[in-house]
Amino acid sequence: MSKSPKVFSVLGIPVHVMSNYPSWLLECVQQSRGTHVITLNAEMTMQAERNSTLAKVIHDAELVIPDGAGVVLYLKWLFWQKVQRCPGIELAETLLRELGQKQKGTKVFFYGGAPGIAAASANFWQQQAPNLHVVGTHSGYHSPEEEEKLRQTLVQLQPQVILVGLGVPRQELWIAQNRHLCPHAIWIGVGGSFDIWSGSKTRAPAWLGNNNLEWLYRLYQEPWRWRRMLALPEFALKAFVYRLTEKSAI
Ligand code: UDP
Repeated sequence: MSKSPKVFSVLGIPVHVMSNYPSWLLECVQQSRGTHVITLNAEMTMQAERNSTLAKVIHDAELVIPDGAGVVLYLKWLFWQKVQRCPGIELAETLLRELGQKQKGTKVFFYGGAPGIAAASANFWQQQAPNLHVVGTHSGYHSPEEEEKLRQTLVQLQPQVILVGLGVPRQELWIAQNRHLCPHAIWIGVGGSFDIWSGSKTRAPAWLGNNNLEWLYRLYQEPWRWRRMLALPEFALKAFVYRLTEKSAI
């Protein structure tokens, strides 16, 4: 097994730092080590402050990656750690590509998004990685009865990698409640990744992402997000205050 990740605390929420997340996850797949992957950003950190169940789920997850620019800047300012940002969508893409090349029989399942979106994502991936073995898909909008059927399907299929795109915190809570159904699987909360893979939305251009401005593009695409995005200045302010108080304590 490769080296264990270093763990840092971002306003009380753990984040795991390592050089190669995809290869660590591939080892988990090979060793059937059940894993919950959380893609942490500033917004989720602020949600976890108010939602103790979400905070516990993040603490219990085997891998919490620095998905957002705010988390990376926090690690830089407070711990002098130069950490590479790892957007969850890119981690999932690398993992799927590598599974298609190196571990062809691995069973993958896509759950989430509007009707047809997870299936369209599976088609997209079938073209990108013809050897990827997607065993099933399910939309994220359904009745409780359908959800029960989905659970039974997961128990029968025992997928080894399960991508759940229900948005934060729904997907994190759902995974925590249901991971026992496939205890050896890698479960990743992928937010709106199915919307991107299916072609129904586009990602911010790379230059915006490289300048820590991906949030601005999302706000332009989905203006209704403005209220949720107030978490970003709140996060920055808390990090600033934390740094001042830490300094004065030294
Ligand atoms: N979604 C879903 N079921 C729901 C609510 C949301 O499948 O009950 C999907 C939605 O269609 C979208 C994704 O969850 O594909 C949320 O994407 P978003 O980019 O908002 O994720 P976040 O920013 O919360 O990570």
